[in-house]
Order: sequence, then structure tokens, then C-alpha cells
Amino acid sequence: MIFTGTAITVTRLPSGIANLVFDLQGSSVNKLTQHTLMELKEAITAVGSADVTGLIFSSAKAGFIVGADITEFTAMFKAPEQEILDWLKEANALFNQIEDLPFPTVTAINGIALGGGMELAIATDYRVANATAKMGFPEVKLGIIPGFGGTVRMPRLIGADNANQWISSGSHITSAQAFADGAVDAVVADDALIAAAEKIIVQCVDEKLDYEKIRQRKTSPLTLTGIELMVAFETATALVFQKAGPNFPAPVAAVKTMAKAATLNRAEALECEHQAFVKLARGEVAANLVQLFLNDQYLNARAKKLLPSAQEIRRAGVIGAGIMGGGIAYQSASRGTPIVMKDIAQESLELGMSEAKKLFAKQVARGRISNEKMFEALSVIKPTLDYGGFDKLDIVIEAVVENPDIKKKVLSEVEQLVGKDTVIATNTSTISVGSLSEALERPENFCGMHFFNPVPLMPLVEVIRGEKSSEGTIATVVGYAKALGKTPIVVNDCPGFLVNRILFPYFGAFSQLIRDGADFLQVDKAMEKFGWPMGPAYLLDVVGLDTGVHAQAVMSAGFPDRMAMSFRSAMDVMYEQKRLGQKSGSGFYRYEPDKRGKPVKIIDENASELIGSVQPHSRDFDDKEIVERMMVTMCLETVRCLEDGIIDSPIEADMGLILGLGFPAFRGGALRYIDSVGLDEFRRIADKYSDLGPLYSPTPRMRQMAGDRQKFYQLQA
Ligand code: NAD
Repeated sequence: MIFTGTAITVTRLPSGIANLVFDLQGSSVNKLTQHTLMELKEAITAVGSADVTGLIFSSAKAGFIVGADITEFTAMFKAPEQEILDWLKEANALFNQIEDLPFPTVTAINGIALGGGMELAIATDYRVANATAKMGFPEVKLGIIPGFGGTVRMPRLIGADNANQWISSGSHITSAQAFADGAVDAVVADDALIAAAEKIIVQCVDEKLDYEKIRQRKTSPLTLTGIELMVAFETATALVFQKAGPNFPAPVAAVKTMAKAATLNRAEALECEHQAFVKLARGEVAANLVQLFLNDQYLNARAKKLLPSAQEIRRAGVIGAGIMGGGIAYQSASRGTPIVMKDIAQESLELGMSEAKKLFAKQVARGRISNEKMFEALSVIKPTLDYGGFDKLDIVIEAVVENPDIKKKVLSEVEQLVGKDTVIATNTSTISVGSLSEALERPENFCGMHFFNPVPLMPLVEVIRGEKSSEGTIATVVGYAKALGKTPIVVNDCPGFLVNRILFPYFGAFSQLIRDGADFLQVDKAMEKFGWPMGPAYLLDVVGLDTGVHAQAVMSAGFPDRMAMSFRSAMDVMYEQKRLGQKSGSGFYRYEPDKRGKPVKIIDENASELIGSVQPHSRDFDDKEIVERMMVTMCLETVRCLEDGIIDSPIEADMGLILGLGFPAFRGGALRYIDSVGLDEFRRIADKYSDLGPLYSPTPRMRQMAGDRQKFYQLQA
């Protein structure tokens, strides 16, 4: 034994080669925690003075190394610049030491090798991987760039173009692709990894392979001419910027860092990486994106806690084969849970099945599933006009039209047919779960399961706990949502639940802006510039003006003090004119299908003319006022949801908005946004608009928090 620690052990193999094995105790995966890095340093020092002919890095877990420990980032990135630089210098000195060891080195990659894990792998001379390995640099997704030499070694190892792609995309790369790009030297069977690594070292010792030459290449400037450098990096910068957009600076910073360091040696190039890393790490975007990662882990942990009380779902049912029912059936089938799809109209069933077929065919066209798999998956959807077999279902989701009387009738009918433990859930988007449960004899088995449209693409499912829903019912629905690959968030019952309750005040602010003379095109542009994927007018067109007007009425009735509309709005005008949005070909915009049949948004003069009827006069607004009015209403309703106990934590509120509405992720969610503006400043902004009504009024508790200089995320910690 050469070294024994709690994350690393090093042994001498019979061949005389050392084997450094990562196996972080108390964790299901290997991470480069501060502690692991410290042990790695000790282990490398021990190997350096041992009598060995080479060194193999490997893992005793199911994957290699998932990366640095992101839970350490929040505190680390808040540290002063010099402290972050010192940390980077120390870690990089260790990686350089590995690269400079006096014998050949190989990494055996079994499964995931990401971020710092992959950076360690490329500090060694060679890499062998198993067929299922996934490699990559996801740092840009956290708003940073690789910090352990990734931007220095990758372009020197696999060329500038490939390195740009690997690092700026943040994607997971398969071992086949990594081999084609030159990032790994061999792909072998799982149980042949160590033998393959040993073979490489023996070949180096026998001077059949020249590892010194590889080191020379990795530590020297790139061998490209000025023109080649320009083509490689300038074109990439433009393309990467186009894809990432102005709000995500890390991908472009990665390319620019590689460009700047291209003509430098290792020490100078690493210095460039450190500088770029520190700048990004201390910025707001990285802080928000790191928090999102932690939020995701928090939600996973919450769901996991519930799972032991969840019933297993072997067979599901959905009632209503419309847009949502069809999507739910597809999602269930694609994840392997058989589902019965019941409707009252044969043509709806046919439409639901043809939608599911289309979705599966897309997966086949993209090479994600085979034809056989498609037919197999489709065969587990059973379209039906009657309730035969409903007694054998573990869960039934009601997704019929948004009408409380029809829903109550359907729910009560179903309850008579299913087993006494079957869970019944409603996909209503606005009607209170409590009121629907009045139709049931076993309201404890009932709750909301609110999917978003389009079901296959939208990650969020709101699980709505009615007053009488049992915890077992909630756990079962959470479990099913997870099985469908969704992120469930448990919310308490109220009109609109979490997401729509927050969305409608935002639409309310939009209607008021138009009433007060704003140009809706400018409002859309201002909100898109703020980071929304689409402005409110465009969003209403996508949701459908009929749905919007209907839901607005439910919200007005639910919260009349602040959500009731005392004027005829632009939404009403569009609805009255049957301009229902994308579905009818026109709304605030006009839509024409492109070559692939996708609706393309076109500015329509008629819409502006119609809006004139609810806009007594127009006036100029600057973008700042537009953004303030829109965001104040949305953020304050989020605060009210938190205070009313609709969700348990700021994390759930913010994740609900990001995953369900497309709230700009780089801003971290509504409560995180208030934190970044500062509660007192946000209160001051809101108070400027107090004349516009109670939607713009901070709660007394928020005023107190502002006075006490508190933050929402401080409360969380
Ligand atoms: P839809 O009109 O596309 O489909 C409704 C289906 O229900 C139709 O096929 C209809 O034939 C069927 N139906 C009506 N009465 C029935 C009955 N008694 N038994 C069986 N089937 C019956 O509607 P949708 O957009 O799929 O919405 C369904 C539900 O999902 C609604 O509650 C809606 O609020 C909710 N929802 C919709 C969206 C959305 O964006 N469309 C998003 C989230 C939630």
C-alpha cells in the first residue's frame, strides 16, 4: 500500500505500476472536494517517491469523478478575489505535478468524468474509457469556465475547434465521440480498463509510445498560424455568442480565454484561465446558476424523502385525450408505464394517438429510439371510449375540459369504478382542488397533478395538496411525476396554485401598461431583453386568449381585492374578436407556418388598431418602467405565495417559476431577483407604483424584512 485515505488509496499492482483509486467514503459518487484534493496531493507525493513504473488513476465507484463539489462553490465564490486565485493556483500546481510525474500516467474512465474529473484525466498522458462513459465540461452551465487547466489542455490535446465545442457547449460527450475527437486513446470493456491502462504504460516503458511528446504538446503554445487561430476562435466566438445570448457570459468567456492563451506556454495560459475564472465566479450569474444547481438537489432530496410512502404505479389512466391527456399518455408510455386513455369522442382518441405517434416518430428520427421501441411504447397506450379495466389502475389523471361541473361528474364516476386505494389526480390549471374534492367519497385519495404544455418538453409538475389529500396520495403522485422524468413541486391549494397565481398578476400588469398607453411590441421587447424567452403578449398568444380570459376570471374571483379587472383589457378585445393566438392564426401577432409547419410570429397592424379601442391615449414608456411594473407584480405575488404557505421555501417558488414559466434562469427566480435588487430598494420601486393598485403593494412582513436587511435566501440557509 502506497497511500491510504478516506477518498483515495494507492496500491502497487503486480506489474510494478501504481494504481490510485478514488472512492470517496460516505458518498455515492466521487467528487473533488477540498478534502479529496488535499488527499490527492499527499497521494501524488507518496507515489512520486515510490518505486513504480507508471501510475493509473481509476475509480472504485460506478463512475469516475462527477467534478468539483458544487456545494462548496457558494461560499468559495463569495471569497475575496485573492483567496479564489490562491485556491486555483494550489489546485493547478497539483495538476501540473501530475502532468510532470517522472513516469507515464493513464486515467481509466468508467462512466461519468465531468468538470474537474475530466480535467484530472487530461492532466494524465493517456485515457482509456468504457463504452458507457460520459465526459465533458459542464462548468459553463454554472456560469463559470473550467478552472483546473481545462481550457489550457483541451485545445492542445484535441485541437481548437473540438475544444471550443466541448467546453462552450457544456455537453456530455460519449466515449465514441471522445475517441473520435482524440480525447481518449481507447474504448474498452468495463473489466478490461485497468489491463488496457497497464498495457499503455508498458508500451511507454518499452519506448513504443512516446508520452514525453504528448506532454510537450500539452504544455506548449498551440501550433496554429495567425490566420488559423483567427478562424478557429473568432468564428467560434460569434457562433457561441449567438447560441448563449447576452445573459450567459461563460461560454464566450471560455472561447476567448482559449484564444488569448493559444500562443502561450502552460504557466502563462493557466494564468489567463485563473483571471477569467475569478471574474465569472464572483459575478451574479454564476451565483444564481450555482444556486439553481443546489435548488435542484434540494427538490430531489425532498421528493426522495416522500418516495418510501409512495404506491408503485404499474398501470395508469388518463381521462381526456386532448392536448394535455395525449401528452400525458405519451410521456407515461415513453417512460414505460402502461396507460389507458379514455375520452368520450372517437376523434379525440384518434387525435391523441396520432399526436403520440408523431412525438415517438420524432425520437426515432433523432436516433434516440429504434422503430421497434416506438411500436413497443405505443402499444402500451390503450385508447378507449369506456371504463373497462379501470378497476386495475393505480392512478387516474383527469384531463377533461376546464369546467368544474364536468370535472366533478367525471371524477365521481371514476371513483365508483377504481379500487379503494387508487389515487385520482386532476390536471386542472385553475380550479381549486378542494372544491373538486367535494364530488368525491374518498377525498384523501385525491390531489392535483398539474402538467404544463407541451407535456413532453415542460419539466415541471405542480402536485397540489388539497385540504383532505393524504400524504400517501401526495407521495404517490410525486413518485409518478419522477417516474415520468418530471420535477414535481408540492404546493398547497389556492386558485391558480403557484405558477398561474403568479402569472396572472404579471398579465394584469401587462393589461394596465397597455391601458396606460404602452406599445405591446415594446413591452414584449423589453421583457425579452430582461431575459424572458418571450414577452407577455407573445406568451398570451401561445397560451391561447380563450384560456387566458377564462383563467383570468377564475383568478379575479379567487383574489378579487387585487386581481379583479376594473377595465376592458387588451386580452378581452382579442378574445372578443376571436383572435385566440397561435391556435387561431392570430392574436396580438399573426402566425404563418414555416417550412416545417411551425408557426412564425408576424407583426400585425390590425392588432394595434384593435388595441386602440382600449387605449384612450398612447404615451412613451422607457423600458425600465415597463420592466419594473411587470416584475413588481410578479415578484410580490411570489412573496405572498411564500407567506401564505402555498410553498414551503423560496427554492420551490423560484424553481416553479423557472421550470414552469421560463423565468430567466440566470436571474435565479423571483425571490432571488428581489434579493439581488435588495429588499429595501425593491420596496422603494414597488411603492412608486402604489397608485396602480394592491398588486403593487409589498406585504407588511416584506417591509419589515427590508427594514431588517434580510434576504429570502438567507432565510433558506
Ligand atoms: P382539450 O380541450 O384539448 O381536451 C379535453 C378532452 O377532454 C377532449 O378530448 C374531450 O373530448 C375530452 N372530454 C370532455 N369531456 C369528457 C368526459 N366526460 N370524459 C372523457 N373525456 C372528456 O383540453 P386540454 O387543453 O387538454 O385541457 C385539459 C385540462 O388540462 C384542462 O383542465 C386544462 O385546464 C388543463 N391544462 C391545460 C393546459 C393547456 O395549456 N392546454 C395546461 C395545463 C393544464
